[in-house]
Amino acid sequence: MIGARLGRVGEEQDVQVVVVGAGIIGLLAAHALVHRGHAVAIHAAEAPAATTSATAGASFKARSVAPGPVTDDLVAMSRRVLEEWDRRGFSAALGVTRHRHVLASDAATIDLPYADRMDDVVRRSSDDGATIRGGFRTELSFRTWYFDVPSVLPAVVAHVLDDHGVAFVRRTVGSLGEVGADAQVVVNATGMGARELVDDERLEPIRGQGVVVPFADPPDWSVSADGFYAYPRDGGLFLGGTAEPGAWDRTPDPAVTRRLVAGNARVFPALADLPTDDLEAVVGLRPYRHGGVRLDLDRDVAPVPVVHAYGHGGAGWTLAPGTAVAVADLVERVAHHG
Ligand SMILES: Cc1cc2nc3c(=O)[nH]c(=O)nc-3n(C[C@H](O)[C@H](O)[C@H](O)COP(=O)(O)OP(=O)(O)OC[C@H]3O[C@@H](n4cnc5c(N)ncnc54)[C@H](O)[C@@H]3O)c2cc1C
Repeated sequence: MIGARLGRVGEEQDVQVVVVGAGIIGLLAAHALVHRGHAVAIHAAEAPAATTSATAGASFKARSVAPGPVTDDLVAMSRRVLEEWDRRGFSAALGVTRHRHVLASDAATIDLPYADRMDDVVRRSSDDGATIRGGFRTELSFRTWYFDVPSVLPAVVAHVLDDHGVAFVRRTVGSLGEVGADAQVVVNATGMGARELVDDERLEPIRGQGVVVPFADPPDWSVSADGFYAYPRDGGLFLGGTAEPGAWDRTPDPAVTRRLVAGNARVFPALADLPTDDLEAVVGLRPYRHGGVRLDLDRDVAPVPVVHAYGHGGAGWTLAPGTAVAVADLVERVAHHG
């Protein structure tokens, strides 16, 4: 189906777009583009379920991403999009919910970038007599969006591919020029793949390992406590997490799995007795980009204009809704100005 006009066709501004990458950045970019009437196909080496996006926690919080004006704008834009999704019932359709995320620490204070943009922020300290779960010294919690990845990712895929008829082509793209022949604009949403694809040495993986464990009665909140974190999962918990800059190995390390279970037992004591031999561990490579997320229009890298959208580090789920709007705006700049 390469080159076919897909999605809502026939409108004056239709642009044929190939999105390279089927992680959350590429999928939501495709979603925004079809909603604006453009014809979209996704080309990707890995199916969505095999991407780093599938290995995330995940909640709305901008961590492990280079700070700067692009990140600031994307945080703000993503918030606006998610609020709109909430109003229209689209969040509910995808399974994106609101819950409380708790940060706990033995340190005297907790520093959270963007705390001022989070809702209903509560700070507590044992120094002031508060009792904090896990015996930690301080706690900062806020209400945020929760992306239950095993249910939200397939819902996004079904919406984009089935409801909107976006074609998915499984292929490894060797150069953006290869796909350029099939499209008027190419979107480069290849995460860590962009390091090789466009020779971007600013990209560095931050390896993250997590593990799903059975847990009776998972909470309706999530927690990050001094290097360990836990998210509710259907009948269990998703436990993290490591953050290893420069590490590329996507094979889970059983010793790390044991450490994640033991570390999270401070907040969930029942985990201390959990056998760890048969647990399902996952590894993702957060696409951290020194200098910030790349989000721009490039007319030099391929015969057709390319919109780059990669380098979201540990905040791709958070920044994807806003990135999708920015990508669609850049594609339309090409449509209007050539
Ligand atoms: C353990 C962990 C926990 C996380 N928790 C959170 C969280 O709580 N909140 C949050 O916001 N974020 C979180 N993240 C970060 C988030 O998952 C990433 O920022 C996000 O997944 C990046 O998405 P992406 O679409 O850019 O890349 P990816 O998901 O890696 O997708 C890249 C796509 O590009 C394709 N591709 C690459 N190269 C090529 C090529 N040459 N040809 C064709 N296709 C190619 C791949 O096959 C894939 O389909 C977490 C990450 C990890 C690992």
